[in-house]
Amino acid sequence: MKRRDVLKKVGVGAVGLGAAGMALKPRKARAKKVYNWKMVTTWPPHFPVLGEAADKTAEWIKEMSDGRLNITVYGGGELVPPLQVFDAVSSGTVEMGHGAAYYWAGKHPATQFFAAVPFGLNAQGMNAWLMAGGGQELWDELYARFNLKAWPAGNTGVQMGGWFNKEIKTIDDLKGLKMRIPGLGGKVLKKAGGNAILVAGGEIFTNLDRGVIDATEWVGPYHDSKMGFYKAAKYYYSPGWHEPGTTLECMVNKKKYEALPKDLQAIIDTACAKSNMWSLCQFEAKNEKYLVELVEKHHVKLRTFPDPVLAQLKKYSKELLDELSAKDPFTKKVCDSYRAFQKTYEAWNAISEESYAKLKHL
Ligand code: CA
Repeated sequence: MKRRDVLKKVGVGAVGLGAAGMALKPRKARAKKVYNWKMVTTWPPHFPVLGEAADKTAEWIKEMSDGRLNITVYGGGELVPPLQVFDAVSSGTVEMGHGAAYYWAGKHPATQFFAAVPFGLNAQGMNAWLMAGGGQELWDELYARFNLKAWPAGNTGVQMGGWFNKEIKTIDDLKGLKMRIPGLGGKVLKKAGGNAILVAGGEIFTNLDRGVIDATEWVGPYHDSKMGFYKAAKYYYSPGWHEPGTTLECMVNKKKYEALPKDLQAIIDTACAKSNMWSLCQFEAKNEKYLVELVEKHHVKLRTFPDPVLAQLKKYSKELLDELSAKDPFTKKVCDSYRAFQKTYEAWNAISEESYAKLKHL
């Protein structure tokens, strides 16, 4: 006899049980615990793509959590200076941060591998290494030392090589050049005899315009147009050998993240993955339109670095990675993983993406 029939027979239904006070009490609506978090960023407030990605990530998290996780986003300097994002999240002053891992080279040199490596992986390769090639596990291991957890949350794609006031015909043209170029790329420029100068985003144009610096790199045509660099330099070089697929990061204070309910943790995870794709797509969709405008409307002279110049910069980049690996065992572990992955990735790319790219469009 089925259970329902038994209950019917003995005259005990849901109502009966309820009346006896034994079961099926009306469930009390679960109290909706609301978390109010702060996110600090390395970008100026609402900065195109990069700052927008932080804003959108917060919006998506709010939507997906039905208002249970509300994140207020602060641009660089609004709550903490741009380059204190790492410390602010690590210490728990704020719960979240948005930036790029190479800003934290002073905390640990291995952070740079999770943002950009000269002559390293492009956007697709970075995502493949991080998500399926062991990169994320290494990132987690490194950031756990600082009570942090981070995800890839944006990518610029291959950047441009920068704005110059003279043509770069040989490697000697880089000697003595004062260029705003951060991270490992800056260290490579130093090996070529140039001076890598760190200038905050908002001051680059003025410095270039006044000749305080001779050259600058930034991102790509869409962003560079907005920065107005074409008014201060006329040669625009490709490719961005120094930043072939810069990954942006969204980080959380690890203890606070682990104290969240599992569904909210999954929501942060998902919002970062969406942001990762959203940002790359903005650049990929807009760059060409702005490049055409730079060349046709603003008469920018588009150039490509000569092969021997790139070959020499690549040699310096390899030397630099060897030096970094020799100094620190964890950096070596990350570097070895990155290089082994790039080798396999490029071998497959040679017969997939590269041979397809030669076919061009329909
Ligand atoms: Ca850049």
